[in-house]
Amino acid sequence: MALIVQKFGGSSVANAERVFNVASIITDTYKKGNNVVVVVSAQGDTTDDLIEKAKEINPNASKREMDMLLTAGEQISISLLAMAIEKLGCPVISLLGWQAGFKTNSAYGSARISEVTPDRLQKELDGKKIVIVAGFQGLNKYDDMTTLGRGGSDTSAVAIAAALHADRCQIFTDVTGVYTADPRKVENAQKLKDITYDEMLEFATLGAQVLNNRSVEMAKKYNVELEVLSSLVREDGTIVREVANMEKMLIRGVTKDTDIARISVVGMKDIPGNAFKMFSRLAQKGINIDVILQSVGRDGTKDISFTCASSNADDAVAILKDIFDMEGAVVSSDTTVAKVSIVGAGMQSHSGTASKMFGALYEAGININMISTSEITISVLIDKEYADKAVSAVHKAFFG
Ligand code: ASP
Ligand code: MG
Repeated sequence: MALIVQKFGGSSVANAERVFNVASIITDTYKKGNNVVVVVSAQGDTTDDLIEKAKEINPNASKREMDMLLTAGEQISISLLAMAIEKLGCPVISLLGWQAGFKTNSAYGSARISEVTPDRLQKELDGKKIVIVAGFQGLNKYDDMTTLGRGGSDTSAVAIAAALHADRCQIFTDVTGVYTADPRKVENAQKLKDITYDEMLEFATLGAQVLNNRSVEMAKKYNVELEVLSSLVREDGTIVREVANMEKMLIRGVTKDTDIARISVVGMKDIPGNAFKMFSRLAQKGINIDVILQSVGRDGTKDISFTCASSNADDAVAILKDIFDMEGAVVSSDTTVAKVSIVGAGMQSHSGTASKMFGALYEAGININMISTSEITISVLIDKEYADKAVSAVHKAFFG
């Protein structure tokens, strides 16, 4: 007998038929003799719809009231799912985040879990019940409901798995696992048997929207083994764990991120402190910087460009104009760029990975604007219109 945490996303419970489909996965797991805790998100587009409803009433609503509203989405899905399981004849109970012991800090809308006290959960499990928990929510020190940020129910599931020392945490979604590239776009994309936390984090951050990255960070911290699998197709998914089978695999996959902007400051004074000034002001505003490139100084000036999320581009330009306009430097942003990356712990012990990637891009006639590398990734900045072509070309070079 094992303790299994299963998480189902909004699309997996979007309508009555899907709710029953999920209910049957859960009851099958339960009937095999396992203890089962389920975390579920709001049905389909419920969270988006609630946000729209709020805007109609008050576009500047307080974050506290927004959380009061958004937590309702998960309250609907947990009760409906519990009703479906009742109908299938298994003992079940649904619990809101606070009932399941989720304590968070007070950052409404993007709260962090501070603690999960699983007493009630354990009591219900001891009573042989399937427990259905509302994801994405908790309670702060004022006894107000908070939400964890969009996509936060993955993190709820991992937190429960950690608190209960579950044997496995299964994240059910609408894809059958983690692939070497987006299988809808890249011919020959292969499902990975397993992947390390660090590789998965890179995938999540680089734009492959399979798991929320806070959930992966938490899984790594508490050593919770995750499985990503489909709620619609019953087959083995991809396991995310500390050490994955390398299988002579140089890289795990190719991803792209098209929601980025390149910001350039051209002609700033070539003096110490400018880069510091620039990036500390951006950091103060919470703007995350990615690939950075600085030119060789000439005639007493230099250029710096970097990438950030396209949603931060206007703010970044305003901040930099404020600093550099006086110096006569020119600040501009460009959102016609995309980042294409390869990810894989295997590249640490192999040479030639970068040249293989650059060779594939060259053969596809794609120009590289910027390059950045980390221990387990190589990223290039290219024209957005070639992003898909670049992913396919690089994927082909590594996976045939
Ligand atoms: N329902 C929330 C959202 O749509 C949480 C989640 O889906 O994980 O963001
Ligand atoms: Mg959702």
